[in-house]
Amino acid sequence: MARYIGPVCRLCRREGEKLFLKGEKCAKNSCPVSKRPTAPGQHGTSRKKLSEYGQMLREKQKTKRIYGVLEGQFRKYFKIADNTPGITGENLLRQLEIRLDNVVFRMGLGRSRTEARQVVRHNLITVNGKKVNIPSYQVRVGDVIQVRDNARSLDRFKEILAVTDRRAVPEWLTADYEQLKGVINAIPTRDQIATDVRETLIVEFYSNRL
Ligand code: SF4
Repeated sequence: MARYIGPVCRLCRREGEKLFLKGEKCAKNSCPVSKRPTAPGQHGTSRKKLSEYGQMLREKQKTKRIYGVLEGQFRKYFKIADNTPGITGENLLRQLEIRLDNVVFRMGLGRSRTEARQVVRHNLITVNGKKVNIPSYQVRVGDVIQVRDNARSLDRFKEILAVTDRRAVPEWLTADYEQLKGVINAIPTRDQIATDVRETLIVEFYSNRL
């Protein structure tokens, strides 16, 4: 499955804020956004005031980058969100939030969403006892997400948990760190999704284009 493989700190600099794409480094003073809060490239120092269109575009780009989703897949999520009853922007965020890689990240089994995605891709995760290695897999209420039996003792998870330190797990999810397991209690509501984006701008962006 396609994913962005370029320099990730550049993405944060482009958005002018920390998107927390690298795990430990994001909290350190060496974070490039803390050291050099300018856009990348030759004209990076001359940030102009964004037009209405620019604001909508940037919000969409930022959201894609936070969740590590490319344009084609993001657009598909939008179409589904638009055809689902309820508020389109919230439907969109919900679909991103219940991706298996994001759930693994929220459980603290990845220092970043990129690492959580790797954990899934490396066949280390089961859903309801069955191996699932598809990062975009959409979890459902009652699903049990767990690190595979023979992988639970890996140093990799000890190292990850030492950093994520049982990070605040959202209330729609229960985590058991003895068993390296999580249970989906509910599909998250907007106020349970701790992602700082203005989804209404994304809806406006696509509403004029699809
Ligand atoms: Fe973004 Fe983290 Fe890189 Fe800072 S260290 S620019 S927050 S990815």
